[in-house]
Amino acid sequence: MIINSRFPGSLILESEKMSKEEYCPYCEDYYEYDSKKETLTYTVKGQKVSIEAKVRRCSNCGKGLTSDKEDQKVLDLVYAEYNRKFKK
Ligand SMILES: [Zn+2]
Repeated sequence: MIINSRFPGSLILESEKMSKEEYCPYCEDYYEYDSKKETLTYTVKGQKVSIEAKVRRCSNCGKGLTSDKEDQKVLDLVYAEYNRKFKK
């Protein structure tokens, strides 16, 4: 039996394990999520506005998952970009 005394609490492993599994409402189960930056295009008052945001996608069904908080953050980015581009 080998005991690795260099990682007494194995904190690194624990946090890795906890990081990515989330409930997917489409699969109705827990799956890992891939998180990556994507370009999202929205239409604000008839103008197309593109922003970059981190999107998490279920590794099982590929659908995006956002929380209300993240949705709000994306909307903030969209309107900030809209104001920057189109408002004088
Ligand atoms: Zn899913």
